[in-house]
Amino acid sequence: MPRLAPIFLAIAIPGLAASQRGPSSCGVACAAASARSAAIGDVRYRLEFDAAHGVSRAVGVQMTFTVRSDDAVLLSLPAWTPGAYEISDYARNVSGFSAASSARALRWDKSDPDTWRIYPDGAREITVRFESRADSLDNAFNWAEDEFALVNGTNVFLYPEGQPFEFPATVTVRAEPTWRIVTGLTRAADGSYTAPTYHELVDAPFFIGRFDLDSALIAGKWMRLATYPAGSETGTRRAALWDALQKSVPPQAAVFGEVPWSAYTVMQIADSTFRGMSALEHQNSNVGVVGTPFLDESFVPSVYAHEIFHAYNVKRLRPADLWPYRYDARQPTPWLWMSEGITDYYADLVMVRGGAITPADFRGLTHGKIDHVAQLPPVALEDASLQTWLRMRDGTQDIYYDKGSLAGLALDILIRDASDNAASLDDVMRGLYRTAYQAGRGFTADEWWGAVSRAAGGVSFADFAARYVHGREPYPWDLWLPKAGWRLVTDTLIEARLGVVLAPDSTGLVVSAVDPRSVADVAGVRVGDVLEKVAGVPASDPAFFRKWSQQAGGAAGAPLDIEVRRSGKLITLHGELRFVTLIHARVEDDAAATSKAQRIRHGILTGTVSAP
Ligand SMILES: [Zn+2]
Repeated sequence: MPRLAPIFLAIAIPGLAASQRGPSSCGVACAAASARSAAIGDVRYRLEFDAAHGVSRAVGVQMTFTVRSDDAVLLSLPAWTPGAYEISDYARNVSGFSAASSARALRWDKSDPDTWRIYPDGAREITVRFESRADSLDNAFNWAEDEFALVNGTNVFLYPEGQPFEFPATVTVRAEPTWRIVTGLTRAADGSYTAPTYHELVDAPFFIGRFDLDSALIAGKWMRLATYPAGSETGTRRAALWDALQKSVPPQAAVFGEVPWSAYTVMQIADSTFRGMSALEHQNSNVGVVGTPFLDESFVPSVYAHEIFHAYNVKRLRPADLWPYRYDARQPTPWLWMSEGITDYYADLVMVRGGAITPADFRGLTHGKIDHVAQLPPVALEDASLQTWLRMRDGTQDIYYDKGSLAGLALDILIRDASDNAASLDDVMRGLYRTAYQAGRGFTADEWWGAVSRAAGGVSFADFAARYVHGREPYPWDLWLPKAGWRLVTDTLIEARLGVVLAPDSTGLVVSAVDPRSVADVAGVRVGDVLEKVAGVPASDPAFFRKWSQQAGGAAGAPLDIEVRRSGKLITLHGELRFVTLIHARVEDDAAATSKAQRIRHGILTGTVSAP
């Protein structure tokens, strides 16, 4: 899933979601009714992106295949991209569709909203062509500027509806001769790219154009760093990112006991209009979009650690109801708290285990997550996972990240406590990776809880699951943290709050919800407004949430100007500064920790287990 800047999640404005999009035009019923395409073979795709395409912000797409019968060929485009759990209906970006055999145009129509039906009429080799718009700055979409394109396979590669996804394909790319091309697909001797299945084909986005690219050996395998625009990630900034990757990747390999890629590519777009950061995982690459003002923020390497961990957890080790992926409709699962939340726990863990952050930083990230959960209405992890497709507007949209991460910490502590630190959550992850993923299938609930219980020496976790995963009970940190040599300290703080939920997209920070009777509500902020400035502090400032209340200064009731863009017009709303009382959590080392608790804490922070 696109991972959003933790700085936002931890401070002031919970529930930052990816840009909101319309509901599905093709739900489960549509899939159930789907027809079956004639079988096709020898599938070849061609992408065209040159200077002219850059100007028109479109990608030229061609697909050639063979057919053996005159039955209709049904070609569909995905409705979503795995990892970005929202319906995007990429077919809506298609224009100029045509089908032909040699010079003979073939008849076609639509058989459902995102499926083209082509009538072969005796043809045995067919080529379809279309253009795909590339103007959405979103890691699950196509996006282009004059000399650069991000192309996502789900946006451009048609598949035969109702036929197996296990068909091989080749991709050729026509671009300007001096431009670069980077993708996770395997490059053949003739310069084309190959994919053994459709799943792998659409799991490898392309960068085409002018961008910076270099590589380094990490954990014995090549890692490439591709960054656009050229010059945006250079010098000490690039060195710092490489350093963080060098430190955070080997501890991931240590958890699973292998590096599953032959080469991995980190693909980054920096753009001044993007607020925060969002990244999307693939099996041997990820695409991050970062607001230019945020490039030096500490969350950037942390987000990449999260995405790279996904190469193990969700791209390979995956819940059974996401295996295999379907592309025509929503694919809900109650397990995103594990696939996303536990991935985020490990992002923090591998950063501290590799020395990219300190144990104090790790505690800070943990209490930031505890704070975030405490500020929201209680939501069960399974429910939050299932409803992510709806883009919830009550602030809980992304809560399965932080709350799931905390569930991971709790399980790690409880397993280590029950086993006297002889086993850990690492054993659960590594064990399921071997027994489920490496056996070619997804894991089930029984397998997950069975693995947790075995790691803990046979202790049942049915009660834990009922209360804290299926249920909504608050997490008893006073009980859990001391088992790992930590304790929770709470501070009461009086803070200025706007009372809005913001969703960053390419237009800016869009208001997606306004708390009733909050500062923003009373001032007249509306859902759909783009937040520009508060008390003169631009919303694009990385330290915006800290600065605006300082800038406003004064006591409750002091005037507070809120600038928003509404229907393209800049307007200034006049509000009043108000404060709310918040309980903030802090995780500290416990001075009274037993030697067992100290061993458990050391084990979590270093990725080790130890006998007494
Ligand atoms: Zn994620």
